[in-house]
Amino acid sequence: MAMILCVLYDDPVEGYPPAYPRDQIPEIERYPDGQTTPAPEAIDFTPGELLGSVSGELGLRKFCEQAGHELVVTSDKDGEDSEFERCLPEAEVVISQPFWPAYLTAERIATAPKLKLAITAGIGSDHVDLDAAAKAGITVAEVTYSNSLSVSEHVVMMILALVRNYIPSYQQVIAGGWNIADCVERSYDLEGMQVGTVAAGRIGSAVLRRLKPFDVGLHYTDRHRLPDEVESELGATFHESAAEMVPAMDVVTINAPLHPETEHLFDHEMLGRMKRGAYLVNTARGKICDRDAVVRALESGQLAGYAGDVWFPQPAPKDHAWRTMPYHGMTPHISGTSLSAQARYAAGTREILECYFAERPIREKYLIVEGGALAGAGAHSYSVHGTVGGGGVEEAPEE
Ligand code: NDP
Repeated sequence: MAMILCVLYDDPVEGYPPAYPRDQIPEIERYPDGQTTPAPEAIDFTPGELLGSVSGELGLRKFCEQAGHELVVTSDKDGEDSEFERCLPEAEVVISQPFWPAYLTAERIATAPKLKLAITAGIGSDHVDLDAAAKAGITVAEVTYSNSLSVSEHVVMMILALVRNYIPSYQQVIAGGWNIADCVERSYDLEGMQVGTVAAGRIGSAVLRRLKPFDVGLHYTDRHRLPDEVESELGATFHESAAEMVPAMDVVTINAPLHPETEHLFDHEMLGRMKRGAYLVNTARGKICDRDAVVRALESGQLAGYAGDVWFPQPAPKDHAWRTMPYHGMTPHISGTSLSAQARYAAGTREILECYFAERPIREKYLIVEGGALAGAGAHSYSVHGTVGGGGVEEAPEE
């Protein structure tokens, strides 16, 4: 019998929902790269239910208990007295989500002698110290592609919300007002603008693809160029670096992982290279932007708007400057955990568990670390020495 320790975000403040606005979600069989969506032997949930919060349990309880395993689900993840730390020494499997990450630091891994598998229910395992996991022989896996398109939709929404000044106009309605000029004095069309993505991986290229019909100029920078046919299909212009790309952009979207090369990439200097009045959308990781430099750029008018769903630290403290800075469209870390995305990553988590307990290979594309080294998707996207050490960066109180 194994203990499966699962850390999920809290239920809604008013309790687990008794009903949902829609009766079903679309069935998606394949991702754009041809890979099939998760295919566990069975699921014990209805797609479209809230699965990512504590009562949703990722739909795993029946499966785990019928197989004789113990499933512990908690949102209490930080500090020595947390349920997560208390249970860790007995856990064989840890499941966590980037939206509410249970940081698996080297110190915590050292207290977990039975730990064999760390699953990210979603994408982005930078909350796990991959070096320490590899040395301890722990397999790290995530549900690759499960929420990439969800994030790309959020990016497009945020770009339009900023450029068209949607949020202040909505607030005008709620406040009982009708001053059209107040709403439109900062409202533009996206059409004709130059939009650039920093990184054109799964999310960045999906953003480019979704924005193409808006008749904008598309640009990207990445460590590798897109294939010629993709570049010409999208009509996207490649730039050698973010610094070289941003001066001509009206809108910049950041879709690169957090690693030493990208940490604080958007500092005072980079923001100063941007066009006056540009918009910046960051759904990648909060630390890619310098918090105070963003605030100053909004206050001075260098940036016309900033939006995203990733913060530093997370959860963001009540007095985080990004909550109150002008012209922002921030949300909590939600873009990859729509009900639609949850159905996919819950099924993917179940698929990984089924493989693990049946001693079958886990899908190559889901693997980040295996057999003491980076593997699968991890070998392409991650570096054991280039990670944030299991959340050390995200947990630090000061930038
Ligand atoms: P991918 O691995 O598909 O793409 C990442 C891309 O970034 C790759 O093409 C990579 O290049 C490129 N890259 C890495 N470093 C740099 C750099 N210094 N400059 C330019 N490009 C760089 O990842 P996804 O698109 O799926 O996800 C991107 C990030 O989005 C994740 O790392 C995660 O942090 C974040 N994310 C956020 C979510 C949310 O809910 N807000 C949910 C999911 C992901 P190459 O590999 O070619 O070298």
